[in-house]
Amino acid sequence: MSIQLDPTFLPDLAKYGAGDISACFHCGNCTAVCNLSEEGASFPRKMIRFAQLGAKSELIGASEPWLCYACGECSTTCPRQAEPAEFMASLRRWQIAQLDPTGMGKLWFKVPAFALLVTMALMGVFGTLMVSIHGSKVFPQWVFGGTAAYETIHHVGMVVGALLVALLAASFGLLVKRSGILPLLKGRKPWSAFKWLAAEMVTMKRHGDCEISADGVVPIAKPAHKDHRLVHLAMMWGFIGLGVATTLDFLFIFFLGFEVFYPARVIGTIAGAVMLWGVSAAIWRRIADPKSGTRHTNFADAWVLAFLWILAVTGFWLEVVVTLKAHHVVHDWVLILHAAMAMEFVLLFGMTKMAHVLVRPFMLLKYKLERTPMETVD
Ligand code: SF4
Ligand code: SF4
Repeated sequence: MSIQLDPTFLPDLAKYGAGDISACFHCGNCTAVCNLSEEGASFPRKMIRFAQLGAKSELIGASEPWLCYACGECSTTCPRQAEPAEFMASLRRWQIAQLDPTGMGKLWFKVPAFALLVTMALMGVFGTLMVSIHGSKVFPQWVFGGTAAYETIHHVGMVVGALLVALLAASFGLLVKRSGILPLLKGRKPWSAFKWLAAEMVTMKRHGDCEISADGVVPIAKPAHKDHRLVHLAMMWGFIGLGVATTLDFLFIFFLGFEVFYPARVIGTIAGAVMLWGVSAAIWRRIADPKSGTRHTNFADAWVLAFLWILAVTGFWLEVVVTLKAHHVVHDWVLILHAAMAMEFVLLFGMTKMAHVLVRPFMLLKYKLERTPMETVD
């Protein structure tokens, strides 16, 4: 089968954040120093070669970009300052953009002005809906000053949730097709791969391995906020916990008529605190302690961190207000800001960096299946 080459690929990838990857002369230092690169899943040099050739078909379903955890070791050892770690991050953004069925994902990553415009426009639409449509105030304890209607927020939220499901289903279909994962399921016992993936998601062991140098030297223990794996774990589990708490709240208050559902409150408070710590540490690292892997923060990365941080802070604000049964119009505006940002975050989930929540586990599964032996037939 012939491979189509696209000479415009490298300039296009630069718009996703890649450095001057044409400077790479294939010394192989980056692959040698990368603790996660291995035979059969070799990166970054092999990926760079495909990119330089413009062999997009070899990259679009590749799992290698997702085996990298952006430690930045490869960039520090590159003699040509080709920034291979940034290159791997840009490949991840490019793959996510190709999975967005609306086509907006490409503009989102490449044109910060477009992303800003969409952000402001959606904020305006959701905010206007919430302040202009007042449902019957079934839950008046949520309407702090009489401006925000709890029912309206939930109805808009349900429409946004339905749109998210439709968009993610389309993206998932593309992911399955392009990754070529289905043939890997035939003739193998996939359960061991699924079990490995579950353990990997809980522990993020590979992320920890990223911190160990290729010669096996374990790095000196560092403060929690500088531990990339711990920070990533905090963000992931905090986010999952908040998702669980929001779903429970929705079911018990909106459907079952509870006034307050305390288990959801407890889960939400703990998860929110964990996520806020993780996001704050991640922001601090990018500002005060940049390493090669995160030296360049583009708008798409900053957008996710800013949204998560504001959502966590406004979430705590509302938690305190509800607990104290405080009433003031300021709290309504905090609620509207929180709800509008949450809906925007959910609606754009599949075309922003948040899509990695789905794509990375999927690609890790592909990686593991490739290493699962075929069953022998007697
Ligand atoms: S270390 Fe730099 S020059 Fe060498 S292969 Fe990697 S990216 Fe290319
Ligand atoms: S950033 Fe780290 S994990 Fe990623 S390719 Fe470079 S050395 Fe490997």
